[in-house]
Amino acid sequence: MRNLFGMTLNDLEAYFLSIGEKKFKAIQVFEWLYKKRVWDIEEFSNIKKEVREQIKHDFDMTMIAIKKKQIDHLTYKYLFKLADEEYIEAVVMMHDYGISICISSQVGCNMGCAFCESGRLKKVRNLDVHEMVEQILVIEQDLDKRISHVVVMGIGEPFDNYDNVISFIKIINDPHGLSIGARHITVSTCGLIPQIYELSKLPIKINLAISFHAPTDELRSKLMPVNKVYSITPLIKAIADYLQVTSRRVTIEYVMLNNVNDSITCAKALAHLFKGMNIYINLIPYNETNHLEFKRSSKTKINAFYNELKKQGINVTIRKEFGSNIQAACGQLRGSMKK
Ligand code: SF4
Repeated sequence: MRNLFGMTLNDLEAYFLSIGEKKFKAIQVFEWLYKKRVWDIEEFSNIKKEVREQIKHDFDMTMIAIKKKQIDHLTYKYLFKLADEEYIEAVVMMHDYGISICISSQVGCNMGCAFCESGRLKKVRNLDVHEMVEQILVIEQDLDKRISHVVVMGIGEPFDNYDNVISFIKIINDPHGLSIGARHITVSTCGLIPQIYELSKLPIKINLAISFHAPTDELRSKLMPVNKVYSITPLIKAIADYLQVTSRRVTIEYVMLNNVNDSITCAKALAHLFKGMNIYINLIPYNETNHLEFKRSSKTKINAFYNELKKQGINVTIRKEFGSNIQAACGQLRGSMKK
């Protein structure tokens, strides 16, 4: 049975037409669910009783459940239990400009990045659309606050679950839905090239982030097996094409791993790759885990890398740290549940 929280406005319009109702009912249902936050169909007072019965018959409204919550100052980490007993995570961060959430898109991940805790837990399945939407709804209800920014950068490779992620974006961006602006939505990929081209055609101009992490194919293939299929040259070409089609800036994520990818030679090579492109590079201090051998680069090395990129004319930031005390690196809380 379909879950009501997984339906885009277009899906619901098609549903209402299929049961002989006017399609504007879809807007009414969306507004109950996402504007008024009323989740008992019996209370949908502008929908007649027979139609309410039909909706109840045709749709499930079961939501994912919070299993565990950890709080560290301005970071909240949630572990969710899904209907099939699988676990996923979401992280909420309180900023001065609003509240952001980092959601998961899959149970586990098959991309196998060497430094990633989630990658140790192989993909079990894609998340359904409703399971992504509900990460936001359930947390907003728990915190009694509205989330303003959404990042799809938790467990999973979003472009390996492309269609569901796009439906999720349509629901949260819809003015009758959660109404989160496209500029407040970011999707991060390890570099699945066909989907980058596909995304450039999406009318909703969300932000794109690319997990890059190494400036040469040799090193990137060691850290990120996806590079053996989608290597640096065609990836840069896809990013350039995306920039040209969308006129949006792309973020390049670069995790700083001690003595692996943090030399000045790496910084120079990275700057060379992106020279003249409308990107900015986000340097991420690595969250060390118990299971993986990688260590975080020192502050001195991160600063030197940053300065070199600046010198080369690249826009660069160092990510502010959140939540390293509460296992906020993706997959760490779920990993501890699985043991
Ligand atoms: S970094 Fe992202 S794409 Fe790579 S294994 Fe981890 S979750 Fe998957």
